[in-house]
Amino acid sequence: MTLEAQLKLSAFQGKILEAVATGSDFHSVADLLCREAEQIAPDAVCTIVRIENGLIRPVAAPSLPDSYAEALDGVPIGPEVGSCGAAAYFGEPVQTTDIDKDPKWQPYLGLIAPHRLKACWSSPIKTRDGRTVATFAFYFRENRGADDAEKELVKRCVHLCAIAFEYAEINAHNEYLAYSDQLTGIGNRRSFDTAFFDPELLSAPFGLLLIDIDNLKIVNDSLGHCAGDTQIASVAKRLAALAGKNNAFRLGGDEFAIICRGCKDHASLRQKAYMALDAVTQPIDTENGTLSPSVTIGGVLNGIDGTAPEQLRQNADMALYHAKQMRRGGYVQFDPSHKSTILRRIAESRDLLEALDEDRVIAFYQPVVSLETGRITGVEALARIRRPDGRIATASEFQMAFDDARNTSRLTAQMIDLAFNELRYWLDEGLPIEHVAINLATADFRPDDLEERLMSALERTGLSPHRLQLEVTETVLMEGHVAQPMANLRKRGVRVALDDFGTGFASLTHLLHFPVDVIKIDKSFVEKLMTDVPSAAIVEALADIARKTGLDVVAEGVETYAQAERLAELGCDFGQGYLFSRPVDAAAITDLLRTTLPVRDPAALQPRQKRA
Ligand code: C2E
Ligand code: CA
Ligand code: CA
Repeated sequence: MTLEAQLKLSAFQGKILEAVATGSDFHSVADLLCREAEQIAPDAVCTIVRIENGLIRPVAAPSLPDSYAEALDGVPIGPEVGSCGAAAYFGEPVQTTDIDKDPKWQPYLGLIAPHRLKACWSSPIKTRDGRTVATFAFYFRENRGADDAEKELVKRCVHLCAIAFEYAEINAHNEYLAYSDQLTGIGNRRSFDTAFFDPELLSAPFGLLLIDIDNLKIVNDSLGHCAGDTQIASVAKRLAALAGKNNAFRLGGDEFAIICRGCKDHASLRQKAYMALDAVTQPIDTENGTLSPSVTIGGVLNGIDGTAPEQLRQNADMALYHAKQMRRGGYVQFDPSHKSTILRRIAESRDLLEALDEDRVIAFYQPVVSLETGRITGVEALARIRRPDGRIATASEFQMAFDDARNTSRLTAQMIDLAFNELRYWLDEGLPIEHVAINLATADFRPDDLEERLMSALERTGLSPHRLQLEVTETVLMEGHVAQPMANLRKRGVRVALDDFGTGFASLTHLLHFPVDVIKIDKSFVEKLMTDVPSAAIVEALADIARKTGLDVVAEGVETYAQAERLAELGCDFGQGYLFSRPVDAAAITDLLRTTLPVRDPAALQPRQKRA
């Protein structure tokens, strides 16, 4: 080979490698490669096809019209399929010096004739692991084979083509890794951002649903990370099946998004959300038994709940956050009021934190009274904040702060401290009190030392566990990591009360799953008692069950004698409410404990007594 030819080849090689190294895609490199090769060998026509799943996929044929590529696209490779089909099939170079006479070219003569191609030398392009991924074809317009210089050129082309292909494959794989979630195979946060901030998407109607798996941590903690992963993967798969793989994304840990293209109104978005809830919550069979995932969904509509993508995204977050607090396991459509609720929650949290820091959190106590005798059997400790101006804020004014884990354990510690010391004092004074009740929120169970803390506080004050009643709502009990510590504490003799019965799921079967000692009937029930037949029937049935199973039933929010009497008639033994006493400070409750409270209307009794 002449020096000039060698220099030309080196320059050619350098140019192709540069294109590869600067990240050009396989199509562009293949096209460049064919054009440059044709410059060096002006008699030749070069083409490159990819082989995908045994089918020919034309990539570059710069000197042939598009119709040529179109005709070949999708043709299966085979021993009789032209030079390229055969080269791919055998994984060996295939040379034909007379296309017109070659049997494997016969079906394609019509395709090739207009271009006056007479001879073809096709070489398979193989990756290092031996896969034939493409072919490089060198055509002549005469019946001849390649000369030495052309052979050298083809050799280089084949080598360069293999490099370009492998490079493109690695790039594609890296891209896949960068944009897809490893565990589930669906798009990741980056992929979501690309899809979501796409101007084309944003210019049309669509809905965005943010989906969060409930209690994933509990699954991880109790059944292991494998079970957690299984749950995540199945949620992803079900969402992708529902929304299409390109519209379902895993944004992180337990959070997913689906884009509902074309969704125009709240009704159809809601329908989509419920379909997602339905699909995702189907049970999953695993080695360790059946898992039933639960998810919470928040949703927004483009153009209605915001137009700027950042705004939309933020509002969707807000709807999800709201749903997590208020409708776990359900769907919430964004509403502008969510913003003020969240701001309020933040303000209440800050208030409580400040009060804890400044030692302004105090306990008020409300008596629980026997509806039979008027004797105070126990008291419930309720948190209060002393405002800087001296006003006492009730718990309902900062109730949202109880959901914030940062506050809860400090608040509970403070309440335990205050209430236990007070109870110690009452008992030492010989006052006839049986127990004190403390309210717990979900966040109390997050650090897993609740049991320890309570037991050591009891020990420190020399109180027996049956002096303590812990009040939790059904919503709290439903959290998987709550049942076990509560069961342990019960075993030690602590009384467990189901608070606000009738506002949550109000399912009696929960009582079987989470055995409790006390049921506190919510004040909304008591309020309806006098007018609503079903409420009375439920109270009566509950009292009946309670009697048979040794439970105490306490009616909350008793405000009138009529209610107290009716409750007693229905078989409810205890009452709590403004009728007997509002929650009051330690000094006031100490005085009350020395008394018996009237449970029948003195005004109604007196005339009768007079008559008698
Ligand atoms: P809860 O446990 O159901 O407490 C009863 C609430 O009803 C108290 O409100 C009490 O003042 C009010 N109440 C009592 N009797 C009557 C009545 O006859 N009529 C009416 N309308 N209301 C009555 P409060 O103190 O504002 O507490 C609200 C909620 O805050 C409590 O509901 C409880 O869930 C929570 N809470 C209070 N203190 C604590 C605490 O120390 N820790 C935790 N985690 N939660 C607490
Ligand atoms: Ca309570
Ligand atoms: Ca209650």
